[in-house]
Amino acid sequence: MILGSTGSIGTQAIDVIRRNPDRFRVVGLAAGGSRVDVLAAQVLDLRPEVVAVAKGSVAEDLQLALYAAAQKRGYSSGEYRLPRLLAGPGTIAEAAAWPCDIVLNGIEGAAGLASTLAALDAGRTLALANKESLIIGGPLVKQRAKPGQIIAVDSEHSALAQCMRAGTRGELRRLVVTASGGPFRGRSRAELQDVTPEQALAHPTWSMGPLITVNSATLVNKGLEVIEAHLLYDVPFESIEVMVHPQSAIHSMVEFTDGSTIAQVSPPDMRLPIAMALAWPDRVPDAAPGVDWTRAHTWEFFPLDNEAFPAVLLAREVGAAGGTAPAVYNGANEECVAAFLRGTLAFPAIVDTVARVVSEHTNDSGSPAPAGGGLTLADVLAADEWARTRARELTSG
Ligand code: NAD
Ligand code: MG
Repeated sequence: MILGSTGSIGTQAIDVIRRNPDRFRVVGLAAGGSRVDVLAAQVLDLRPEVVAVAKGSVAEDLQLALYAAAQKRGYSSGEYRLPRLLAGPGTIAEAAAWPCDIVLNGIEGAAGLASTLAALDAGRTLALANKESLIIGGPLVKQRAKPGQIIAVDSEHSALAQCMRAGTRGELRRLVVTASGGPFRGRSRAELQDVTPEQALAHPTWSMGPLITVNSATLVNKGLEVIEAHLLYDVPFESIEVMVHPQSAIHSMVEFTDGSTIAQVSPPDMRLPIAMALAWPDRVPDAAPGVDWTRAHTWEFFPLDNEAFPAVLLAREVGAAGGTAPAVYNGANEECVAAFLRGTLAFPAIVDTVARVVSEHTNDSGSPAPAGGGLTLADVLAADEWARTRARELTSG
């Protein structure tokens, strides 16, 4: 089951699946509904049992697009049988619980939470690209997941899982999460003031959806990934390091207690961690091209500039606070990114505003912040909504 099938992760997963028909079969597809033509073509290619779109208003468009795509491929009328079509916001979680072995959650942003919970509750293996759902759900997601039920798709976390195979849990000293540094690496805070959405959307090493691309430029993505690593692998925040590595060849590393560090290396290509997650613990041959070891390479490493890019430190704070704090960080950020892309918010103001919303949440007794075990889905959704509203207020001028 591929959720977010029309996005960057979804289309790359489909590429992996189509090249390995003996291993994988697509049971269902789900997407937001803004690209019905792409979705219709995927349905004709993959012949899933079920297709879901979050936007209820596009149900008819999708049906028409399917008939049009069928006709284009030479099916005579009546020859093409539609899959089961589901439309509306609640239907994505319904698709997530559909009978299948693996649910790949490639939905963008906090909207992926309901599907993550539904897939876990239905007992599916969850190949998780949608880090936001784990981060905002925190203990809520963790409590529902059986050991090994969540497999990370994020390249850093896939790398960490691969590196962790090299030693025992007791031998693990530290995780080193690498960051490309994004398109503005090396700039001072003042030099970030006037950067445009176009510049922020031009990532140096990865081609991804707009939200995660801007998050990579602000380093919010790395902040989210530190929390993700903490939640996935139960490693304390002080044992998770972030290192800037502009070439994105080393996707992360694990240091063991004897002083040895194991790294996972491959050219930046998400098809590798996607294939790894779908086949875990096996490897899919030729999932992506390997490193060309016949030519010269230069790999650099820099410590993070926390002054120009305060997003990771802030993420460590909200991650350690737990409760609804990560949902506030994420929800405020998603709104601020939207404002930045609309041209109504300056680039450094994204994280500044997130920090302000987070601090108001911490200090304001009016907003819910239950710690740890008492967290409910209603708390998370309320915190997400509160943070979005507050961020919109602060960014509307
Ligand atoms: P994207 O914007 O390219 O695609 C998002 C997909 O989600 C689309 O298919 C869209 O239709 C769907 N969608 C949006 N809102 C939805 C909703 N309410 N219900 C159902 N579907 C909805 O994003 P992406 O780059 O593919 O990223 C997806 C997730 O994977 C994000 O959580 C991102 O952080 C994570 N991720 C992406 C990459 C990457 O290389 N693209 C790498 C690591 C992690
Ligand atoms: Mg990543």
